[in-house]
Amino acid sequence: MMHDRHLVCFSGAGLSADSGLSTFRGGDGLWENHRIEDVCDITTWKQNRETVHRFYNDRRAALASVQPNPMHRLLVDWQSRYRTTLVTQNVDNLLEQAGARDVLHVHGRLTEMECLACGHVWEIGTAAWNAASDRCPDCGSLKGVKPNVVFFHEQAPLYQPMWKLFNGLKADDVLVVIGTDGAVVPIGAVAAAVRCRKALNNLEPVPLEDWVPGMVAPAFFHHALFKPAAEAVDELDAIVRGWMEG
Ligand SMILES: [Zn+2]
Repeated sequence: MMHDRHLVCFSGAGLSADSGLSTFRGGDGLWENHRIEDVCDITTWKQNRETVHRFYNDRRAALASVQPNPMHRLLVDWQSRYRTTLVTQNVDNLLEQAGARDVLHVHGRLTEMECLACGHVWEIGTAAWNAASDRCPDCGSLKGVKPNVVFFHEQAPLYQPMWKLFNGLKADDVLVVIGTDGAVVPIGAVAAAVRCRKALNNLEPVPLEDWVPGMVAPAFFHHALFKPAAEAVDELDAIVRGWMEG
């Protein structure tokens, strides 16, 4: 039976971690002795342009070596069964590789470049970008081309449709949060505020001493599964199936 119920899935780095993609959040936060923030900041990237492109070339090469995991495939399966919107903070294309359509990539896409000189956006897959010679195919700009990834201190234009989506959730709808603690997009505050059915899957709870408003907490959800995403698939599918078909 088809119904109007809306399933919204919001995912973060923990979804792709099970595919082997590093998150750069843990550990020392460094890449080749650069602070991660220094190679993806819209206010400084032009001074570090070649380093920025090397960093993202490495990210694309890493993406080329990994594959979607069972949780990516579950989200695609939901999309084929239900009225589903997939929202992700991840810049990888593993959801698309698994067959997902119309994913809202609120922090951009690693496989695209954008030209700040003319606004052109284009796909380069997992290819490397040569900062010394590659140019915008539309206007020929050399130094205006950056990865189409939202940098620190840069506007995220897709936040607006994302908030509209969250604000539109009704009591009968379902919100599933996977692999994010809510530190960047305050999805915990969304979960606390909306009155729909809600499930969370994270590797572990946010430690109490690290928790700040906006972050997720088990009390905001009807179900909270603390285990790797790929191991939560069957349980989460049963929960969502019950809500969407019950
Ligand atoms: Zn251009």
